[in-house]
Amino acid sequence: MTARHRNVKGTRDLLWPETHLWSRVEATARQVFHAYGYGEIRTPMLEETDLFIRAVGQETDIVGKEMYSFEDRKGRSLTLRPESTAGVGRAFVQHGMEGLGLPVKLFYIGPHFRYERPQRGRYREFHQIGAELIGDPGPTSDAELILMLVRFLEALGFLDLTVLVNSVGDGSSRAAYREALRSFLEPHRTGLGEDSRRRLETNPLRILDTKDPAERDLLANAPRLDEFLSAESRAHFGDFRTALGACGVTHRLEPRLVRGLDYYALTVFEISAAGLGAQDALVGGGRYDGLLAELGGPDLPAIGFAIGEDRLLEAMTPPPNWPVPRPPEVHVIGIGVPGVESLRLAEELRNADRAPGTGGPAVTSELSERSLKATLRWAASQGRRWAVLVGEAELAAGTVTVKDLRTGEQRSVPRGEASRSLVRKESDS
Ligand code: AMP
Repeated sequence: MTARHRNVKGTRDLLWPETHLWSRVEATARQVFHAYGYGEIRTPMLEETDLFIRAVGQETDIVGKEMYSFEDRKGRSLTLRPESTAGVGRAFVQHGMEGLGLPVKLFYIGPHFRYERPQRGRYREFHQIGAELIGDPGPTSDAELILMLVRFLEALGFLDLTVLVNSVGDGSSRAAYREALRSFLEPHRTGLGEDSRRRLETNPLRILDTKDPAERDLLANAPRLDEFLSAESRAHFGDFRTALGACGVTHRLEPRLVRGLDYYALTVFEISAAGLGAQDALVGGGRYDGLLAELGGPDLPAIGFAIGEDRLLEAMTPPPNWPVPRPPEVHVIGIGVPGVESLRLAEELRNADRAPGTGGPAVTSELSERSLKATLRWAASQGRRWAVLVGEAELAAGTVTVKDLRTGEQRSVPRGEASRSLVRKESDS
């Protein structure tokens, strides 16, 4: 049978038991981020289109080509969030969060949307886990943020990480470099692609992000951003790297790393993991000191990162202490009694008191009319360990019959004691 409806191109259904891994990753993020003083924020998936134009920048690929924007029924232009720094910044300003005491540390987890060409590791609906540290100029907080990120990735079993860092400098450093880069590229204008030619006018730094091999060759001889850093920017970057090193985080200078958004300043970074192929960037982040003021808020410095959760899961080997949850252990079957009797018994077994730490069993009950034999076969095929049978005689006697689906043995036990005989031992698996 072919399905009449399919999921939209570039989106995915996440199915059980893979969703269990997603939950564990997110629980680990919450645990690690809490330990560094971060609180969760959940902003809407829909924002005004203007917010992204202002925060992400007109000249970026995101705003230029990748946004899911549409008019609502009243003609307002809305956009499915392509990233979350804009929304978090908007919420920060709107709620006057500077009043909470600085720095404010926030993290988020959720779906994001970009109209990109789908391939492995690149989707139109994808998920990010991100954090923002607002109200501290760094450089020590830059190091702390990356330390937290590395700890989180280590907790997921990533050991082969590459941390790339760079400084895009303060405003004056970038202005000087922009001119130098423009002068260098101008004579080669005809060799540039359409996007890069436009960026030569609007924002030449963006050209450094190019994936085009010919443009990359050309850029190999371009002036380097680090030669244009002001003394303050250089000191900030040096102190940041010293702090990062002091925390034991190995990292590498990547002079061509500029990152896509307009408001990045000073520290920028990326982390990649082995085994992701072409889409190996797992995390991107950086300092965006001008953004909050641009959104009409206080002129506060900020730094953040976003992890691609889809890629994280693709690259991850689940830690050994994350067993896939086992199917329910117990199936309750009523024989010749009203269906509600098996419902009641199942609920009793789930909630029975047991010794601390043993945890109640997961229990299903038979709701269909099929034969006992078919039911038992089904229960065994679904990985149930026990069947608990209840008929008229058992109801009258206050007992149940516990059948071990592995050995076929069965015995009658007092109803109140049944749950105690249903604990799965480690050796059972
Ligand atoms: P960005 O917001 O572009 O800096 O992206 C941060 C991270 O999100 C990247 O390093 C990727 O891991 C992930 N990411 C970005 N775009 C996509 C996408 N279309 N599909 C899957 N992951 C993505």
